[in-house]
Parts: sequence; C-alpha cells; structure tokens
Amino acid sequence: MSKKELSKQAAVVEKNKHYIIDITGMTHEGQGVGRIEGFAVFVDGVLEGEQAEVRIIKVNKTYAVGKLITLIKPSPNRVEPFCSAFRRCGGCMLQHMNYEAQLAFKTQLVKDNLERIGGISGVTVHDTIGMENPLNYRNKAQYPVASVNGRVITGFYAARSHNVIESEHCGIQDKTSEKVRRVVARFIEEKGITVYDENTGKGLVRHIMTRVGFNTGEVMVVLVINGESLLYADELVQRLTGMSLEDSNSHEESSHVIKSIYLNINKENTNVILGRRNVLLYGSETITDTIGKYKFNISPHSFYQVNPVQTEVLYPKALEYAGLNGTETVFDLYCGIGTISLFLSEKAARVIGVEVVEAAVEDARRNAQINGVTNAEFFVGEAEKVVPGLYKKGLRADVVVLDPPRKGCDESLLQLLADMQPSKIIYVSCNPSTLARDLKFLTGHGFTVEEAQPVDMFPMTGHVETITVLYRR
Ligand code: SAH
Repeated sequence: MSKKELSKQAAVVEKNKHYIIDITGMTHEGQGVGRIEGFAVFVDGVLEGEQAEVRIIKVNKTYAVGKLITLIKPSPNRVEPFCSAFRRCGGCMLQHMNYEAQLAFKTQLVKDNLERIGGISGVTVHDTIGMENPLNYRNKAQYPVASVNGRVITGFYAARSHNVIESEHCGIQDKTSEKVRRVVARFIEEKGITVYDENTGKGLVRHIMTRVGFNTGEVMVVLVINGESLLYADELVQRLTGMSLEDSNSHEESSHVIKSIYLNINKENTNVILGRRNVLLYGSETITDTIGKYKFNISPHSFYQVNPVQTEVLYPKALEYAGLNGTETVFDLYCGIGTISLFLSEKAARVIGVEVVEAAVEDARRNAQINGVTNAEFFVGEAEKVVPGLYKKGLRADVVVLDPPRKGCDESLLQLLADMQPSKIIYVSCNPSTLARDLKFLTGHGFTVEEAQPVDMFPMTGHVETITVLYRR
C-alpha cells in the first residue's frame, strides 16, 4: 500500500472518537487487534473473538491504538484477572485469558513465527506443555523502588514505560520474594533512605532483587544502590535474617532461609538493573538449588531459569532430543552456570560450555566439581568469538545446544555451525521470532527441522520457551 493510500486510510480513524470493533487477532504481547475499514487498531485487554467499544488514543501512519471502553461481546476464554494491577503492570499480559487458551495462544504464536518469519513449513509444533499450577512460579524478582509523596513503593514497571506500578501482591512471584520486598520497603521508608530517580540520577535505592532456591529454600537478597554504601546496613541484615518465612514457601517440602544478602553498586544512568560490583553484607556468596539430581551454586550475576518447575520439563526434553550414546562431544553454547551442560554430561563423552558472564562460568566450573562431573569444561566469552577459536584448534561438536538470550544468535556463529556440520543442533529459545530467523538461516545451510516443543516457562505473560531439534541433511 502506498503512503498516500495509508494516510487516506488513517483519516478513517480519528483520535478521541469511539468505535465498535471486532477483535480478529492478537499480537505476541497479548494485545488484541481489530480493524476499522481495514485500518489496524491495537487494543490492550481484549481477546480474539471479542467485540468492544474503544476510544482511539493514538493514530499513526500504519496503525492506531484504542483504549477499551466497553466490552460488548466477551470471549468464552475470558476469565477474571486475579491481580488488581492487571493492565497497568507490564508483567502479565494474558491474565484475562483462561490457562488452556493461553497455552493454545502460545502454540499458535510459535507456528506463526516459524511460518511467517522462518518461512519454514512442515514442522510439527507440539502443544505447549503447561503447568499444573501456573501461579507463584517465579524464583527471581526484580522490584523497582520508587517514592510517591514520601511513601516508598515497590512493584513493577508499566507496559512500555518506566513508571512504577505499585502492586501489593504479585501472583506469579514466589511468596518469599513478596515478603522480602515488603520488609525492605518498610526499612527504606522508616530510615528515610532516598530512592533513585532515573530522571535526575539522584537518590540511593534502585531495585530489590530476590532469588529463591525452589528445592532448597535458600534465599538471596540484593539491594541495588546508586552509591557506595548503605547507612543502617547491619539493621537491614538483622531485619531480613530475623523475618518470619513460615508459610511463605510456594513449595511445601522446604522451609525458607535467608542465605545471602548483597549490596550491588550501580551508579550508571542505564536500564541494566545490576551494576558490576557486589558487596556481600551477609552469609554466602551464592545460594544453592537443585534440578533433578544436580546441585547448582548461583551468584547474583548469573542467569538461572526463572521457572524451576518447568525447567524440570525443559532440560529432560533437551536431553531426549540430543539422543546421546556416550561417544559425543557436545557444545553447550550460552551455558549460564552450566545447568544443561551437567544434564548432558552423563550421556556424552565430553561437554564444552561457553558463556559470556564471567561469574556464571566460575559458577559452572564449581558446579561441575560439586557434582563430581569431570568431562565438562567451560570457556568465558561470546560464543561467536570463542567457538571459531575452538574449531580452529580442531575441536568439533557432534551435538550443539544453543540457548541464547532474546536477541538470538549472531549470524557468524550460525555460519560457523554450518561449516562445522554437527549432526544435531538443539535450539532452546525464549523468543519465537529470533528462533524463526535463526532456523531460517540454518535450514538454508544444510540442516532440517522437524519438530518444535513449546514449554510454558512464563504463565500469564505472552512469553514462551521453545525447544527445537535440527538434523544435518
Ligand atoms: N543455558 C543456560 C542459560 C541460558 S540464558 C540455562 O539454561 O540456564 C542465556 C545465557 O547466554 C545467559 O547466561 C547470558 O549471559 C549468555 N549470553 C548472552 N550473550 C552471549 C554470547 N554472545 N555468548 C555467550 N553467552 C552469551
């Protein structure tokens, strides 16, 4: 469509006017999409199949944004959201959809991405594996801290913004994290400690980060500050270690204990939550958790899967897809603290993990040691830089595991894999669109993909994890 035609169409939709529209699709962020005389309108909080009265709040050249005014015809998949901050908080975009429908939505999302972006057809996309109880599943929380009229609030960012939405209870976080943030917020307020303002760069406390070992009950608390030290730090430690954590566990078998308390120094004007330096205030440097029979030490800067229940689904699936017979060399790229590496080590001859965060690699080496794993080695650096070096030295993988962050893999790494020609690549992805892009490259360079298994690691949100296996043609 030409620009002229588009703007002519845009004129059909007027700002501040009300329209009745049928919602005919949904974006990957869970926004409903409808059309007014062919012109796309995005609306938060509505589901496919619904009819709604909306007020247009924004008109662009190619699309408009509508605000839900009245729901005229609700979808049978609609449920009452459980959180009072729903639609203000940017976290759970699908809370108004029943869980079965969320899973179907995610399966479709993966299919659409593979077909539209990947141009790949004939792939069997299995039904998304969901959770029995899709609540309180997150083992890691990062609460922004803000001050409103002298009151200290903690919560989450609003969608597409950095406004802090206060939410009393977050239904997807571990209950212990929720208790910790309340204790810390009260402490900050009572002591008159300042709160960071990202507009001025002034104020001390930025974020409260918590991490809970699901199977061990060990809790880490990290207070991120825009400064070098915290007044009354001893008292914060006393309050946290003295707080009652009874009944707070989402997982009945273990009782919780504050194991590690850190200050993290972040004086940069940045969206990155953690600064580079940590100061241990109390307890151990790491907390421990278990996945299957393996034990893992986790540092503040290390990545660790946020949904421990579904990790026990994801990793065995990776192992199954790898189909190892004990003779293989496996590369585990983007290996974090070596979790997948250790899972695969038992069935492989040799595992080589590569990870860019140094603290994570230190964790990975220690994790291999404490689990008695002797056939896994780890390298620090970007996979796209480290792997070419290993390949030049004559190291070749029979099986490669890729588990990159949301932006996917660097094309030069994929090109190297095309040259190296491992017999299998297991691609674990938290972003279906970059997965589809990377699969497009790999299927154009000697690999085929037959099946994809979405796993719901992030219930209530629009995110989905997908595991795929590629074979050398
Ligand atoms: N496989 C691990 C970690 C997956 S998350 C697990 O299941 O726990 C992705 C990891 O990739 C993070 O640990 C991140 O630090 C790391 N990473 C990001 N960019 C990278 C790069 N270019 N090279 C290697 N690792 C990278």
